[in-house]
Amino acid sequence: KRDKDALTLTRRIGVFGGTFDPIHIGHLVAAQNAMHAAALDQVLFVVANQPWQKEGTREVTDPKLRLLVVSQVLRTIPGLEPSDIEIQRGGLSYSIDTLNELRASHPNDELFLVVGADAASQMPTWERAEELSTLARLVIVNRYGYPTISSILDFDQPILAEMPWLDISSTDLRERVRDHRPLQFLLPETAIEAIELYQLYRNRENG
Ligand code: ATP
Ligand code: MG
Repeated sequence: KRDKDALTLTRRIGVFGGTFDPIHIGHLVAAQNAMHAAALDQVLFVVANQPWQKEGTREVTDPKLRLLVVSQVLRTIPGLEPSDIEIQRGGLSYSIDTLNELRASHPNDELFLVVGADAASQMPTWERAEELSTLARLVIVNRYGYPTISSILDFDQPILAEMPWLDISSTDLRERVRDHRPLQFLLPETAIEAIELYQLYRNRENG
């Protein structure tokens, strides 16, 4: 029987938001292990336009440039895809808006919000937090330096993705650039080249 359902393929799509300033190996390992733990077909790296948590606390690199570097890095990695959805929308970036938009543009797919443990514990402070669980399931990846977290808000049975503890953060990488310390192997070579080419993080006073 050639009904519509039989022809529609349901994909499991991970939605991994971040500032990616810069993208690093921790992000890639987290996404890969989230993909494995939740049997995802694809993980979208959603580059924040204006991360509201970072407003006024530090200088954030131009969103288009962060997206460019993420796109270059992901080009050769199957299953991991850059998304400019928050940059297209403009303004402050809220996951709830992104999930609503993806829900509408992917009516047949299942959405999975992917977060590290540090981000997971912050979720109750997110914009319209109580609506998040109506749009996606949750995948929590452990993060070095933060307590393991196994449930948050009213998400039903979050999926816990394990990864080796990697004490890597964009904050530390920006400090390394400022202090002329080595970056090699902490982030992809393409990202290191972009930092040099665009002279990122060199003379930043506020993180
Ligand atoms: P910053 O130090 O500027 O906050 P970051 O390294 O935390 O940068 P983000 O862009 O803020 O990177 O994080 C995007 C997502 O990636 C978040 O869900 C975060 O928890 C997760 N993440 C980042 N680094 C790691 C890591 N080393 N291990 C596990 N998860 C990580
Ligand atoms: Mg962070």
